[in-house]
Amino acid sequence: MKNEKVGRFAPSPTGRMHLGNVFTALLSWLSVRSAGGRWVLRIEDLDPQRSRREYAEIIEDDLRWLGLDWDEGGLAGAGAHGPYSQSLRGEIYNEYLRRLHSTGLVYACTCRRADILATQAPHQSDGRIIYAGTCRPPVLPAPFEAPAAGVSCSERLYVPGRAICFTDGVFGPQSVCLDTHCGDFVVRRADGAWAYQLAVVVDDALMGVTEVMRGSDLLLSTAQQLYLYDLLGLEAPEFVHVPLLCNSAGVRLSKRDGALGMAELRARCTPEQVIGRLAHLAGLTSDDAPVSARELIPVYSPQRIPPVLQLVAE
Ligand code: GLU
Repeated sequence: MKNEKVGRFAPSPTGRMHLGNVFTALLSWLSVRSAGGRWVLRIEDLDPQRSRREYAEIIEDDLRWLGLDWDEGGLAGAGAHGPYSQSLRGEIYNEYLRRLHSTGLVYACTCRRADILATQAPHQSDGRIIYAGTCRPPVLPAPFEAPAAGVSCSERLYVPGRAICFTDGVFGPQSVCLDTHCGDFVVRRADGAWAYQLAVVVDDALMGVTEVMRGSDLLLSTAQQLYLYDLLGLEAPEFVHVPLLCNSAGVRLSKRDGALGMAELRARCTPEQVIGRLAHLAGLTSDDAPVSARELIPVYSPQRIPPVLQLVAE
């Protein structure tokens, strides 16, 4: 159906969800359900070392317990846009990588992570890696030159010096210069694994996603993704980033944190208690009284989500 809102939840099955992941899932689900749209569950198991099918199974079980149902995807893979596990989509990514090659902006890179880190400016303390273009050919665009057999290389995409501008549904207007934000970025890793940026763009576009709602840690990655949409001639969705939840020490929740993880929450709370707390944090309700996800559909409004990078959840 044209103009149908299509949202998605795209967990990486590298651990069990915590309250922050559930916050994102709930808001994306509400956004879609309040518009009568379609919600896709995509399993982002790109990292073969860290992803486990058992985690995907338990994420699905936790979503069902919370009352967050999906229309398409998941491990069962029902729907017209499958497969819905990224580990099964390699051929599709390959086709889009070839399209990127045809722009003449992709090159083979032999730099290892440790080499790049060693050349980082000392003030670069937020963990971001800004690639200085060490392996970039002197003239671009140029045809992609595959490395000699046995040489392990990643594939990087040249980025321009201009700003990429977009308006986020919660954080408002953004402007990011990719050359100073990240530099030329990896689209395929040296070990053959697909890079998140390429996979997420191809998947959201081919799955017909019209609204990407996710944590604010990915706000600035959106510029990399918009650049890829443009180069690949794909239509970009709307982007809505929601605050990350942090503990009382101001540290964002991680899958290693037990206290606000799903195992603890399910042992201590009802689904309505968990949802009630999140609805209040999202500005949807005046207190954190228990409520079901379904009861929130009529009150959902993205304008109420506070535009702060982190919210204290404890
Ligand atoms: N797979 C990512 C995660 O679990 C989310 C990526 C996205 O929503 O674009 O953090």
